[in-house]
Amino acid sequence: MTEKRKKQLFDSAFSLSLAIFLPLASAFFLAAFIYPALFHLISIGLGTVLAYLLVLNHRQNQEDSLLQLRLQSVDEQANLIEDEIIKQEAALDSLSEKIINFSELKGLTEHLSMCLTLEDTSRTLSEEVNKLFGDKDTTIILYLFHSKTGELGISSSQKGQMRVNLKTKKGDIFDQWIVKAMQPLLVEDTHRDYRFDFDKIKKDEPRPIRSVISVPLKAGHKALGILRIDSPREKRFVTEDLRFLTTIADLGALAIENAQLYERIEQLAIKDALTGLYLKRYLMERLQEEISRQGRRKTEMSFLMIDLDYFKQYNDKYGHVAGDIVLRAVGFILAENFREPGNVVCRYGGEEFAVLLPDCPREKALEMAEAARQRIGEQTVILRRMKTSITVSIGVAAYPKDADNKQEFIHKADQALYRAKQEGRNKVCAA
Ligand code: GH3
Ligand code: MG
Ligand code: MG
Repeated sequence: MTEKRKKQLFDSAFSLSLAIFLPLASAFFLAAFIYPALFHLISIGLGTVLAYLLVLNHRQNQEDSLLQLRLQSVDEQANLIEDEIIKQEAALDSLSEKIINFSELKGLTEHLSMCLTLEDTSRTLSEEVNKLFGDKDTTIILYLFHSKTGELGISSSQKGQMRVNLKTKKGDIFDQWIVKAMQPLLVEDTHRDYRFDFDKIKKDEPRPIRSVISVPLKAGHKALGILRIDSPREKRFVTEDLRFLTTIADLGALAIENAQLYERIEQLAIKDALTGLYLKRYLMERLQEEISRQGRRKTEMSFLMIDLDYFKQYNDKYGHVAGDIVLRAVGFILAENFREPGNVVCRYGGEEFAVLLPDCPREKALEMAEAARQRIGEQTVILRRMKTSITVSIGVAAYPKDADNKQEFIHKADQALYRAKQEGRNKVCAA
């Protein structure tokens, strides 16, 4: 039976008893004065009804307290459900925040994975951090330890959409704290954080800094640098920001380590991938060595600068891939032509080649250059069943006849090449 129904029944029983009790009570008084004989009978009736009313009242009280208890338990359940809803809502909020963070991290990883050089990686990392945390007032700084000196130095810094020039190039007291502790740092308000000497901060860096989050960049146990954001506003960052920045720094450190490895490998590489010839950097080292030795040997040394004629037109007409095939063919002829030991045949850059002939007087170098020019001009490259060919212009300089230092030696060969171009191309000119 429902509580409502019970209450209805109870109310009607109570009204009925009252309806019986009231006439009986009136009759009792009437009988007491008018019919004393009926007095006992009416007293018994009245007593019974009164007792019944008392029982009813007692039961009513019991029902009331039961009802009260149930109400309390329902209230408690409602509170529990309300708490659970609040918890679920918070979990949902944090989940959607996590989803946003994950998609942001995905974008960051994609952009970082496209970078090869350290410069690109540093710039991309600070730009991405700026997108995620920055506003017009925040400054993002990426510090890296110098690979040789181990000193901390700014690799990239950004305020809003602009690159900024900072006074403290080697880091301020917050960065020094990170270098020592190698732990993430959150400073909610520089005025109130007693770990740091506020006067020193003001002296070191004139731009206002009220809050900072900063994390070390680590690859395994190796410290690579620091990723830091500061703002002129107090309480600009919360613990959650620091946690997110730490994750970003982990990804960034990986990308930076890769870029550093890539640069180291690049530095180790001495050969060009397309032609298999030496790279300019190697040529320069060899040239320096040969110049240092030249004083003792007293023999003449020659240098050739070679440039393809109208190569842009060739590329435009046959495509870049065809252009690469021609570059490889020219490289092959040059390597063949100047194959004696000690010579350095190099892809100087783009469609330019250079040859260093350490033991070769100018006259002999001019002859060899002429032979190479002719062979290249006669070489045909078949593209889509079409015979194509290319010519080259060559400038030749001799050391020490034409120059007394490395720069001038190269410059003289370059000038001779320029003259060959001016005089109609497909030509060899001496300095
Ligand atoms: P000039 O006779 O005055 O030297 O004319 P040019 O067209 O050869 O010279 P220019 O410097 O104007 O153009 C050089 C061209 O070489 C432009 C570029 O497309 C092409 N080039 C440079 N490096 C490469 C490469 O690695 N592959 C290919 N296919 N083309 C290249
Ligand atoms: Mg050129
Ligand atoms: Mg050219």
